[in-house]
Amino acid sequence: MSTIYQLDEVTIGQIAAGEIIERPVSVVKELVENAVDAGAARVTVTVEGGGSQLIEVTDDGHGIAPGDLQFAPRRHATSKLAAASDLESIGTLGFRGEGLASIASVARVEIVSRTKDAANGTRIVAHADAIGVVEPAAAPQGTRVRAEGLFENVPVRREYLRSPSAEFTRISSWLSSFALAYPAVTFTLRHDGKDVWVMPATSDPRERLAMVFGRDAANALIPIDPAGARTLDGTLRGFISAPGSDRADRRMQMLFVNGRLLRSTLLAGAWTAGYSTYAMIGRHPYGVLMLELPPDHVDPNVHPTKSDVRLRYGSQVFDAVRRAIAATLQAHASERFREHVAPAGAGVSLAPPSVDASLPHVESLFSRFAHGEPVHGRADEVPRRRMRVLSQIDCTYILASDGESLLLVDQHAAHERIAYETIVARAGEHAPSEPLLVPLTIELDATQSAALDRALELLHEGGLEIEPFGERSYRVSSTPAGYGARAFDLAGFLDDLTEDPKQRDVRERIWASLACHSVTVAGERLEPEEMTTLVDRLQLCANPMHCPHGRPTMVRLGPVEIARMFKRV
Ligand code: ADP
Ligand code: MG
Repeated sequence: MSTIYQLDEVTIGQIAAGEIIERPVSVVKELVENAVDAGAARVTVTVEGGGSQLIEVTDDGHGIAPGDLQFAPRRHATSKLAAASDLESIGTLGFRGEGLASIASVARVEIVSRTKDAANGTRIVAHADAIGVVEPAAAPQGTRVRAEGLFENVPVRREYLRSPSAEFTRISSWLSSFALAYPAVTFTLRHDGKDVWVMPATSDPRERLAMVFGRDAANALIPIDPAGARTLDGTLRGFISAPGSDRADRRMQMLFVNGRLLRSTLLAGAWTAGYSTYAMIGRHPYGVLMLELPPDHVDPNVHPTKSDVRLRYGSQVFDAVRRAIAATLQAHASERFREHVAPAGAGVSLAPPSVDASLPHVESLFSRFAHGEPVHGRADEVPRRRMRVLSQIDCTYILASDGESLLLVDQHAAHERIAYETIVARAGEHAPSEPLLVPLTIELDATQSAALDRALELLHEGGLEIEPFGERSYRVSSTPAGYGARAFDLAGFLDDLTEDPKQRDVRERIWASLACHSVTVAGERLEPEEMTTLVDRLQLCANPMHCPHGRPTMVRLGPVEIARMFKRV
């Protein structure tokens, strides 16, 4: 038999604080968010000993009125919410009235504050369940909160802390990321008596980007075209990395919803989806997304530290963000293509960014090439300034020239891009397929067959007919029209499918994979006409610069680069 005890206030406070104050950076977050909510223009964060000795946040915001100060450190005391109905439309970062109380239950807290109208400042201390009395104190306008001896009364928590420098690094990276969304506020971070960094208020968002991502990485960022998110009931702003400059993880993806820095699986997913055909599998774009939605579309009250939010119209938001990102990258790719491959005046017209679904049905990519039919758009869109194919190099690259620059095309990557765009264009209308003379029976292991089961329907859309044929056996009865003859690489395709399917949108993955394993490979000898058609068609692609896995399809040596090689400039 066990006895049920009523916990005392101190223990209750520590349990509640446990959810909010996990480590020093959590204290910084609560205090800095309070400062921003108070309309501060300057916020200074002073840290000692990685935050376990001291965290002090000073701001020049509106301050706390003397009569209110005694309530500030109390649990569930807030000025940001008056009634439960206010929860529906939260316009501030805080609202739970738990920040100061939680900090006070695990550290010695002193709050000094003065409002604009008050002649003097006031001060209060709070620790564990003891809240002191409000007394006068000299203070400039604004608020200063000091938290000393963090977790001294919770030794287990102390043990989980890393070294002071590691804890300080978390503080610095959280604060600098947070600052991205508040360029009008000057943030200063001090550690052990030294100014570590200062971010002066600025009207140029790129300055902050450079401080967070580094100068070079920030220069490579492209602004999101807000027009891409027209369908959104709100706005999307931000900067995203261009294809080719990605990272191995998502840590440099800064996501804000209504000014809250958070880990939003939804936003991160939409970013990945919008980026999917530009990135190599397993690589991640970096940058910052700032989503502003009507307050009643966002429920931040799903997580004690508000590190994720629930969106009322999540799938619409997902779609709008994905589209905006894809459109931004699309425009960027076309621009780069114009700069690099078809300089102004060359008269190349690009295919419209949206894929034309009214394409003639495809017999064979190659036979179409031979007939000179465009993969995209209309026949009159063939580039006017033609790239002349000079030679195939190493059975892998195509060397071409327009009389001014040299172009090296990776035949596999280029063909893959063309095939991919064709498949995407046809999807939904069930691509024609070609029956195999002798249906192929394949046997798969458990992982492969699970992956295949998930993909069957999409494969069918793409023109590949595979049906279960006994346990873990499948029969391939037809392949996408025109591909069969080129020995569709089923084994390679299945390997691709089983490789971490969460990395990108399944549909696009399958199509990219289908494209990849149905086209010219490196080391294959091509006829001159085949190469010419490949180069022509590539230029009509919506995104001609990269294959669906994000590898470049071509490099160009322009007159300037050539002159440089011969030391003429
Ligand atoms: P919340 O932010 O959820 O309201 P807190 O415990 O963090 O809860 O703060 C309680 C209250 O104290 C706030 O609602 C606000 O009125 C006041 N307060 C806290 N920090 C500041 C500050 N830096 N400037 C002005 N008022 C503050
Ligand atoms: Mg707060």
